[in-house]
Amino acid sequence: RKRVKKDVVESPYVAPICESGIVSELDGDTISYFIKMVTLNLEKGQWELGSIRSTSGEEASVSLSNGNVLKVARSEILPANPDILEGADDLIKLAYLNEPSVLYNLRFRYSRDMIYSKAGPILIALNPFKDIQINGNDYVSTYNQRFVDSPNVYGMIEAAYNQMMGDEVNQSIIISGESGSGKTETAKIAMQYLAALGNGSCGRANDVLQTNCILEAFGNAKTSVNDNSSRFGKFIEILFSTTGKICGAKIQTYLLEKSRVVQLTSGERSYHVFYQLCAGSSSGLKERLNLRAACDYKYLNQSNCMAIGGIDDAKNFHQLMKAFNAVWICKEDQELIFKMLAAILWLGNISFEVTDSENHVEVVGDEAVTSAALLMGCSSQELMTALSTHKIQSDKDTVAKSLTLLQAIEARDAIAKFIYSSLFEWLVQQINKSLEVGEKHTQKSICILDIYGFQSFQKNKFEQFCINYANERLQQHFNRHLFKLEQEDCESDGIDCTVLDFEDNQECLDLFEKKPLGLLSLLDEESNLAEASDLTFANKLRNHLNANHCFKGEGGRAFSVRHYMGEVLYDTNGFLQNNRDTLSSNSIQLLSSCNCELLKLFSEVFNQSEEHANSTFHVGAQYLQKRGVGTKFKDQLFKLMNQLESTTPYFIHCIKPNTKKLPGIYDNELVLQQLRCCGVLEAVRISRAGYPTRMNHQEFSRRYKFLLLESDVPRDPLSISVAVLQKFNVPSEMYQVGYSKIYLRAGQIDALEDKRKQLL
Ligand code: ADP
Ligand code: MG
Repeated sequence: RKRVKKDVVESPYVAPICESGIVSELDGDTISYFIKMVTLNLEKGQWELGSIRSTSGEEASVSLSNGNVLKVARSEILPANPDILEGADDLIKLAYLNEPSVLYNLRFRYSRDMIYSKAGPILIALNPFKDIQINGNDYVSTYNQRFVDSPNVYGMIEAAYNQMMGDEVNQSIIISGESGSGKTETAKIAMQYLAALGNGSCGRANDVLQTNCILEAFGNAKTSVNDNSSRFGKFIEILFSTTGKICGAKIQTYLLEKSRVVQLTSGERSYHVFYQLCAGSSSGLKERLNLRAACDYKYLNQSNCMAIGGIDDAKNFHQLMKAFNAVWICKEDQELIFKMLAAILWLGNISFEVTDSENHVEVVGDEAVTSAALLMGCSSQELMTALSTHKIQSDKDTVAKSLTLLQAIEARDAIAKFIYSSLFEWLVQQINKSLEVGEKHTQKSICILDIYGFQSFQKNKFEQFCINYANERLQQHFNRHLFKLEQEDCESDGIDCTVLDFEDNQECLDLFEKKPLGLLSLLDEESNLAEASDLTFANKLRNHLNANHCFKGEGGRAFSVRHYMGEVLYDTNGFLQNNRDTLSSNSIQLLSSCNCELLKLFSEVFNQSEEHANSTFHVGAQYLQKRGVGTKFKDQLFKLMNQLESTTPYFIHCIKPNTKKLPGIYDNELVLQQLRCCGVLEAVRISRAGYPTRMNHQEFSRRYKFLLLESDVPRDPLSISVAVLQKFNVPSEMYQVGYSKIYLRAGQIDALEDKRKQLL
């Protein structure tokens, strides 16, 4: 028997055209490739189902479901999956994994409210933009008794919980996807279900859930794509007692978007908590904070977007206070928190007056200054000086020089951003303290990671740089896990495992992490040079990194990185400033002199971390090197990866089916682009490399037994399966028989299915 060319058989993209509707000829070897349906490219990006009626030369005549018959080029045709695979709950089961088939399958499920599907080990979650029954409370209580076949978050959480209890291994749920795809909602569903599973009389399940409310108030905002967009990454470790009850939690946050406090794009909002405070505070509190309506504050009104449809900020303020109480944030601390928020709002209203031709300024001494100073606990004069001057050390003494308008605005905004981000960190600390579990408890945990997915815009900034780096790390974690799973699956089933080879992304990670010649090190080095600019930084990268295949120097301030998910163009504009993220000594001095406990604390923490940074410079470096935001994030990420490595991971990938935020709309292009971006298709391809179809002996024999003559039917499922394969001359290189499953190469299941249908 001649061997069939391997690449032809393995590639799901090859479309063996059915001559005369039944059999195709490949390399002179007759393989039964029955393809009933095809999809074809009618217009760019538009695929439709049809079936081939006849072919001649490079052309095929195809009939569509609406009865129309078209002539199309063969190259425009891709095979569709046989009917039994329609709406398959795991993409791995698809005989053909071409893009239209995957899209069709997900769409088929989505239109029936089956928003979850598997892609091998990944759970795909399509955002329904409406309540799906499955997430109701009834479901939580009945799930235990009911075996539900279709994949969903509950099943995944249940598996993780059981494994934690049974094997004493900690578990992790890694959720990714682009903004608005449903990561945070999915994380909440997961937490709610965990809370239901691990709710005990003395447990703290409910308090742990309340943390969502606080973090969302302070870390979420309305953006153009999501009314409740998380502007930070979150890792929550939920701790369980030996009996499986939730007894505490630990939260770690990443990369809060500070710029949102002072600068908004039109149509977007700042953090929810500001609007909640303005709308929901009692008249007494309003008076104590000298608080106005949200629309009176420049930091809030600059974007012409004050309210979100369907959201009651005042009501949410009361929820927030309840949540504060649940995690033991006392009334005094609550008052301090609100004071800081009001101070930030008043800071934003401080304005400047230009006093000379060189644009030097003075602060306008109005209500904004007095209110901000009062709330911060300093004199108006101190605040005005800090915002309009900087000190220069001359030979004998220090002289104060006026700032220019731009510098003054920057100084003011820097203080506001500093207070807010410090407040956020402090809050997380307070929550963690309250949910801490005593040392003596044995701890099991399930952690949930809700972090931005890979991003690639036309122009990418420091923010994307950090996020994509994090995703590169997570991708490696995923790849290695997947590889291990495949290996284990094959080995435990006793079959020959084709050595899977897939691209490792270590080289790209090296590009970021290598010392001293990696992106992050070089960024720190440049950030420490006084005369450096974004352009000198870009030049430095070109000089040092050109040898790395993942790096591409572009013109001017730009450079590209070949990420696992594709090439991304970065613009170094703002990299140094974002990485340095410093506060002037003037401002720090001001904050430490304020008689507000929180501000004192924040400035102390800041000073400590600066000192700490100075003491940990790299040995051998020529000068003291401060660690920038990028490097600090790297350290956080290493800690995270360390923690994840000791857990059994579960992956959820969220997908946004449309940008209108409406139910029932499924935009093929949008879904496809996300599937490509997150590596789902790649993962499925790896999972099914070689043997896409896997059926256990029972399933296989039950379905195809009748193809055998009655006198030939052996007794056990394994022998029946082998007999079927032999009777239909499935070439031996097209399948393997494992202890529990039959492994078939691409295309084989279609052939069997078609025979089955002919005979039924
Ligand atoms: P992300 O965190 O990925 O940016 P979110 O989780 O905030 O996205 O989801 C955005 C919006 O989509 C939510 O505010 C909600 O309206 C809707 N949504 C997401 N997931 C679900 C779900 N499982 N059920 C119902 N609505 C959802
Ligand atoms: Mg989110």
